[in-house]
Amino acid sequence: MKKQYYLKLFVCLLVGGLLFLGLTGPSASAKNDNNDVKLRVFVHYPKPGLDKGKPQGPVCQITANEQVANYGLTGWKLPDSAVVYKINYNTNSFGISNDSLKLAVDNAFQAWATSGLSFQDGGATGAVRAQNDGINLVAWGSVPNNAIAVTYTWYYQNTGQWVESDTILNKKLKWAVTPYTTDCAGTAGAYDVQNIMTHENGHWVGLDDLYDLASRDLTMYGYGFTGELKKDTLGWGDSLGVKSIYR
Ligand SMILES: [Zn+2]
Repeated sequence: MKKQYYLKLFVCLLVGGLLFLGLTGPSASAKNDNNDVKLRVFVHYPKPGLDKGKPQGPVCQITANEQVANYGLTGWKLPDSAVVYKINYNTNSFGISNDSLKLAVDNAFQAWATSGLSFQDGGATGAVRAQNDGINLVAWGSVPNNAIAVTYTWYYQNTGQWVESDTILNKKLKWAVTPYTTDCAGTAGAYDVQNIMTHENGHWVGLDDLYDLASRDLTMYGYGFTGELKKDTLGWGDSLGVKSIYR
């Protein structure tokens, strides 16, 4: 009897608490404890085993099946308001025009702008480092172990509320911007900005990497390739994933 009472009390408190959080809405963010902010880092390598001694990475393969329903969740969620990001154009040393770079990055964000999600290009920044400084940064810089790109996301572990994301692209690799025509029609030997950024932005949104071979044609497949453009467009699992978070 007593056990049941406590169980009921617990459920009441739980429901009450959830209701309270729901009703208070944005002000609940004030209750986020700064000590609770966690950092998660996604590091992207060219496919292992194929890239030994070949820093330019392996070749892209034409999509065979992007209709798989696979996705993984990181556990955080972007706010209802537009996420403002900034690009450090000064770190672009690849002969890519500022206009082309802006368009590629903007397109990469817009690929995810569904289910009420919105992104806004906040212009240029001189920021160069991934740090929790209120600037959602896209820049080239140094990354560990010859990775293609690294995305850093800060979030509140308890509430799942996203705080900030920064994506650093490897300045030591070759980069290009090529509008999508077919899956592998990017510049030979170069990583495509929009292709890689669309994947990285999937992490901002709250999606995890997929490494199983069946997911190789999805945007959230964890490996990237030179000449690859296929990640520009979301696959079925990518769309299902984002809709599962924002509905
Ligand atoms: Zn990733």
